[in-house]
Amino acid sequence: MDRHTRAQYLGAIGIDLWVPRSRGAPAAQQLPAAELAARWNGLRNEVMSCTRCPLHATRTQGVLGVGPQRADWLVIGEAPGAEEDRRGEPFVGVAGQLLDKMLAAIGLDRSRNVYIANVLKSRPPGNRDPKPEEVAACLPYLLRQIALLQPRLILAVGRIAAQNLLATDTSLARLRGRVHHFGELNTPLVVTYHPAYLLRTPGDKRKAWEDLKFARNVFQQLTAQMTVPLTAGAAIHGNRS
Ligand code: URA
Repeated sequence: MDRHTRAQYLGAIGIDLWVPRSRGAPAAQQLPAAELAARWNGLRNEVMSCTRCPLHATRTQGVLGVGPQRADWLVIGEAPGAEEDRRGEPFVGVAGQLLDKMLAAIGLDRSRNVYIANVLKSRPPGNRDPKPEEVAACLPYLLRQIALLQPRLILAVGRIAAQNLLATDTSLARLRGRVHHFGELNTPLVVTYHPAYLLRTPGDKRKAWEDLKFARNVFQQLTAQMTVPLTAGAAIHGNRS
């Protein structure tokens, strides 16, 4: 019996047919788990020993990212700060604590379902803004992370992340509230305020909450779109293999 006929029969008796999300998806999701883990390890080692820009001379260590290697959500910030540089994990300082609360409000947790990374993997001295040449040197690492992770949605936190990822100088205020797309995989990308900014400007937390709800709705719609009606009764769902 061919696939279509089988789906029709199953649909008629009310059984949904699931197909892996990897069907038609680029290579990384089809990699065996061991190979995927090996690529992540290779990337981590390269970041740890990276000397592509002068920041390697002043950092304590490179900070690759944190979270499950198949998370559907990817949060991207600017660069490690002092605490991140010391501990080797993104967003573990005061701003990170606020970020964790913001993410928890929409059901996300770095130990379960969201991966967190930065545009820069090394701390700029005194937490100054990243220089264009530092971003250019470091961006290939983020692109490799995204290729391995294949997130369904990217949340860019803060002006520096948003402007660098979208290659624009448009203000953060104007980038908020709509869906952008990033990279070869055209990954949907939503922009919100950086938690460090929100600590300085608590009056804008309400707007950040609107952004988070917007991102959550976008994600839910993307997930719903993975359910493609095949026949009157049957549906094909995408899921993580
Ligand atoms: N700010 C960032 O943008 N990233 C971090 O990891 C910490 C603070």
